[in-house]
This record gives sequence, C-alpha cells and structure tokens, in this order.
Amino acid sequence: MGFPLDQALIDAAVALANHRYPQGEAVVAALRTASGKVLTSVSAEARVDAACLCAETGAICEAHKINEAVVASVCLYRQSAADPLQVLPACGICQERLAFWGLDVEVAVPDTRPGHFWQSRTLRELRPFYWDEPGS
Ligand SMILES: [Zn+2]
Repeated sequence: MGFPLDQALIDAAVALANHRYPQGEAVVAALRTASGKVLTSVSAEARVDAACLCAETGAICEAHKINEAVVASVCLYRQSAADPLQVLPACGICQERLAFWGLDVEVAVPDTRPGHFWQSRTLRELRPFYWDEPGS
C-alpha cells in the first residue's frame, strides 16, 4: 500500500465499474480504511432525485459497521461504457460524511495534465475554511 489514496484504490473502483456496469452509466466508489481495507459501493438511483444516494454512501456505512476509520475516497463516473471513466470529487454532503474521520481524509480529484487521471487532495485542502474548525 502506498499513500492512503494510491493507484490500487483507483484500480479497485475501475474494476467495480467494469464488473458491475459493463454497459451504460457507471457511478462507483472505493474507500480505504486505516487498516488498509478497500470498501467499494455504487450509487443508488431512485425516482426522486433527492432520494438517490452517492456512490460513496454504501462504503461509508460499511466503514461505520466494521468500526474502521476511512482515510481515502475515490468516486468514478462514466456516462456509457464507450466513455472514459472520470474522477468525480466528493460532493459537499459526502465531504461532510468523510469529515467524520477528520480533515486529513484524502479525496480523488481530476488531473487534467496529459497522461494523468487523478490527483489527491485532503478534505482540508478542499475546504480550507471548514465550518467546524474556525480559525484553522
Ligand atoms: Zn456525495
């Protein structure tokens, strides 16, 4: 295992996308826990947009279930199997869910440099003026 967020974690999300969604749209997540476990999950669609769940949600619940801290999170998206997977930064709600384990949790964000796919940012970098750490 390299850094909390490494290529192996990205690869776990890619494998889930290809396995679960060989056709059509894919939204998947892979999270790493402090002990090195990789937890994966998919988004939950619903007829009402507000009832849908982000791909990270299942793995976040799993981490709570096994009582392990999450240290890194990746979410990947593609519109169809013909499209390349793209990194989706964690939404604001998932950032709040991940901040339960502190602002050092690493989150994958896109990297548009040629030959690159993803880069890592901590929640603290994504939210330098986090509401629960005034003055940080
Ligand atoms: Zn989210």
